[in-house]
Amino acid sequence: MPAFRSFLHLLIPGLIFAGAYILQRHVAVSVAWQGLLDLFPYISAVAGLFLGWRFNRTRVLWAIGLLILVERGLTLAPPFGREYLLLVAPLLVPLNLTLFCWWDERGLLTVHGLMRLLIVAAQVGVAAWLYLERAGEVMALIENPLLVALSFEHLPFPQVVLLAMALSLVGLLTRYVVCTEALEGSFFWAAVAVIAGFWWPEDFLFWGGVAAFVLTIAVVESGFSMAFNDELTGLPGRRALNEFLLKIGKRYTVAMVDIDHFKKVNDTHGHDVGDQVLKKVAACLWRVTGGGRPFRYGGEEFAVIFPGKDLEKTLPHLEELRDCIGLSRFVLRGADRPKKKPTKTTSKAPAHAGLQVTVSIGAATRDETNATPEQVIQAADQALYKAKKGGRNKVCTA
Ligand code: GH3
Ligand code: MG
Ligand code: MG
Repeated sequence: MPAFRSFLHLLIPGLIFAGAYILQRHVAVSVAWQGLLDLFPYISAVAGLFLGWRFNRTRVLWAIGLLILVERGLTLAPPFGREYLLLVAPLLVPLNLTLFCWWDERGLLTVHGLMRLLIVAAQVGVAAWLYLERAGEVMALIENPLLVALSFEHLPFPQVVLLAMALSLVGLLTRYVVCTEALEGSFFWAAVAVIAGFWWPEDFLFWGGVAAFVLTIAVVESGFSMAFNDELTGLPGRRALNEFLLKIGKRYTVAMVDIDHFKKVNDTHGHDVGDQVLKKVAACLWRVTGGGRPFRYGGEEFAVIFPGKDLEKTLPHLEELRDCIGLSRFVLRGADRPKKKPTKTTSKAPAHAGLQVTVSIGAATRDETNATPEQVIQAADQALYKAKKGGRNKVCTA
């Protein structure tokens, strides 16, 4: 996946947070708009819970459920209880969000789902018991500075809470760097919004709503991605290709790219290695030059569309693509590859280390005889067949 597309997964919720901050802190809202703004947290929470349930994004369900719990607690607790909650919740909630984010989707009513429920219930139980028995001691413990020399007086949180928040945010950013998906980016900003809610507890409902909103947007985004992008390679899939071709205009070239003897790769090294080869080939396709847009057409066949380009103009870029794939030695992670780097090097390399594959490419341009996208694809497919017949590892034209 191109770095920019991944970065959008962090940037979009970040912009939503910035917009919410400006709206909340710096804009005087008229009474009519205020009514709408008051409804916003409820709408966000309901939408997030509904979509999280429908798309089976249980992490989002847990996060929003936890925020509802805290909001209700802050609203309903007596003054001292609220004071207690405003020390305990900022310590625990961001950490829990980080835990939810790292814990992969495993369904709601499964062992994993119930374990999450148990963890949250245990925290609520212990916090409530401590409140009844030792509230003062707990509060003094949280407020006790870790380092007396350090002063964060301009911040409304004790040092222990600041440390927990920093750990949570680092944990969430790390998760984003590892996964770069929409939900990971939005979990980071949801945690930031929740921290803002603890900073201005009189507006916790609003900031909880912002957190629910960025999570909801991410659920929609990941649903969209599931529908239009191929999961294995991250390339846009067939549905995205069809939509793209509907709005492309009258001048374009289609190139069909097919891996040579791919069945042999699967047969010799196994399906997992085959999958890795597909990912590596996709990485070359992402980098195709000349304004080409890559798609996974199906199986080990890809399409590259060059909008506004005639056949001749695309050929150097297709040759470059063929070279990029053919000259790459794919270092693959085999099932037999040890998890830790071996201390002793052996001379015997696994059979699939430095695997090489080639591709055949067939290209066709839209013209009077091939006027519809289907006809252009068919012509490119015939050219691909020619390339295969001609010995493979070739670019042929219709
Ligand atoms: P040719 O050079 O003529 O294209 O030979 P080929 O072996 O590449 O052609 P063929 O179309 O017969 O084989 C395609 C193979 O791709 C068969 C199928 O098992 C494999 N394949 C399709 N999709 C996937 C996938 O997602 N993962 C893996 N590992 N293999 C796949
Ligand atoms: Mg093939
Ligand atoms: Mg094929």
